[in-house]
Parts: sequence; C-alpha cells; structure tokens
Amino acid sequence: MILNTKENGWFVLYHLYSTSLNYDSQGIKDFHHDLKIAKRWGIKYVVIEDYYRNFCWGEYTCPWNKETFKAIIELIHNEGLDFIPYTNPTEVATHSKIFKKYPQWMVRDRGGKTFTGFLSVFFPRYYREFDFQLKLICPASNWKDCYLEQCRELLDEYGADGIYMDRVDHRIKCSAHPNFEEGIVKIVKRVKEVVKERNKRLIINDCGMFLDKTMRKVLRMADVILIELLPAGRLTHLLKFILYDWGDYLYKMRKILSPLMDFLNKGAYLTSPQLASSKAILKRISKIREVSSSPLLLFTHRATPQGLNLISEVAEQEEGVSFCLFQPEKLKGKGEGIKRLSPLA
Ligand SMILES: [Zn+2]
Repeated sequence: MILNTKENGWFVLYHLYSTSLNYDSQGIKDFHHDLKIAKRWGIKYVVIEDYYRNFCWGEYTCPWNKETFKAIIELIHNEGLDFIPYTNPTEVATHSKIFKKYPQWMVRDRGGKTFTGFLSVFFPRYYREFDFQLKLICPASNWKDCYLEQCRELLDEYGADGIYMDRVDHRIKCSAHPNFEEGIVKIVKRVKEVVKERNKRLIINDCGMFLDKTMRKVLRMADVILIELLPAGRLTHLLKFILYDWGDYLYKMRKILSPLMDFLNKGAYLTSPQLASSKAILKRISKIREVSSSPLLLFTHRATPQGLNLISEVAEQEEGVSFCLFQPEKLKGKGEGIKRLSPLA
C-alpha cells in the first residue's frame, strides 16, 4: 500500500550558502533562514549537492569546510529533518585528485580515451558550466570500493540519514572494464546494503531515463525515487541505442553538435511538456509506478513559483508523491530562477 504522507524534499546547492574554506557563520545563518522556510513547505529530505570542496565530483568526504558543513547538518537534524548527501557513482570532476590519481578507473572509448556524458552535448546551454568538467568513471572498476567507503563515511561520520545517487542513467560501452551497465546495478546493490545495515534510506534519481532493464533493477532498490523532469524523457528510448554504440563519437563531435543542439533547443528546455504540463508529469509517474511503489519526489528545473506550484499541485493529488524544491542559479539570458527560498516564504 502506498501511504499518502507528504514527505517533500529540498535539493540544496550548497555553494549558494558557502564556498569558504574557513568557518562561515554568515553562510550557516543564511542556510538556517532558508531551512525554516523549507520546513514550512513540509520538507523532510534535505538533499545537498556541491558541499564537496571546489566542486570536485567524486570526492564526497572533502567538504569546503568541515566545521561549516557539520554545523549545517546539525541545523537540519535540530529541525527534525533528514540530511541526504548527493553522490554520483558514474562521473568525476577532471580537476579532482581521483581523476589524476586513478586513471585506470575511468571509462575509456574504443580508442582508449576518457569521455563525458551526453547532457553537455544535448543541452549545452543548461549544462555548460560543469558537465564538460565531468568524465565518466566506471562502476565496474575498483572505483566502486572508493565510492562505497565514502558513502560509509558520510553515514557514520557526518550522520547522513541516507544516500542520494545521481546519474545511474549512462548507457555506454567501456573498453577498459568488463561491463559498465552491470557495474551500475552492482554499485547500487552495495550502497543499498550499506544504507540498510544502518536503517537509513537510499534515494535514487530516475534521470528522466527510459525504463530499460538496468533502470528497472536500479529503481526497485530505491527507498525513495526522485523523478527528475527532463525533456530527454521523450528521447531516451532512441538515444539509448545511439549512445550505447556511438556515445564516445558524439563526445568527439561536441564542437559541432553543441551549438547545433543549443540552436534547436533554444528556450525549449524549461517549457518542454515534461516540465510544464501536469499531464506529462502524471504519465511519467505512472511509468515509474509500473516498476516501484516507493515514495516519489517530483523535481523540476523550472524553479519559478509557477514551476514549483505545478509539481506541488500534482503531488497534492497523487498518493505517495511529494515534491522537491530547487533553487538554481540564474540561467544565461533568463533571470527568473529562484536563488534563495525567500520568494517562497
Ligand atoms: Zn569501465
């Protein structure tokens, strides 16, 4: 049975509050201000991204400043809410120590070169800033042990109430290790064990992905599924087959493809049906429901009062569906994003 309790989420971009390497009392104060607003919105899960120093995806136990980070976690716990750290099992920043120290963990194309995910190629306007700095890392390599160890530390040393996993949607061939896709399923399985042993929760992002065999296996292990409303949702069935065989070449062609896709997508990202129509959102919910009856969190990149109202209205009507607040930075040429939660107070 699906319980009709609303346990909403708040997806926090940590760098909006603090990127100081010193103890940051102002950042903590700003966060506390927004945390109280979030609480009024019925937030249960506070999912925090980019708490890791210098935006080093892959290094989830190196916060900008440990004391600031711990103070923020304490505030969340004092309000009776859950702290869920962002992690990503398939991507790593090119400026991270991991990328430099463990080249053998990287995904390799057929020419032996590292490459990056496809969002940067298909939605360059939205993903320009960070995506090209991320390379695919292989869950079928020994990276899995390093990643697992970090999850344990987040749970045991930082008191995380669960783990959030992003980007389980990459479907590519890795020439360096036996099986990338199987690696994803295995790494999720192991995180699930670690989380379950501690009676905590695993939140998995569906990444707007076509529900292939791998995605179905992965989503069945989630205690909570975050539905990321993405225009890619329409295309992934077709894309999967192109990307699986040609993903590495698409990356090689990014200098031509990115501007072309940017031109074709112009302005369409935030107004695509997946982000703007309740009908499309309900369709996605029913697809996910065929796989799992876990609670769902609706996440939209349209972080305007309109966009947030839409997901909260859908969540209101649907059993077991909650919404997830988000505050992006301003998009280039579009100044309507909510940066702090104050406009929602
Ligand atoms: Zn590999």
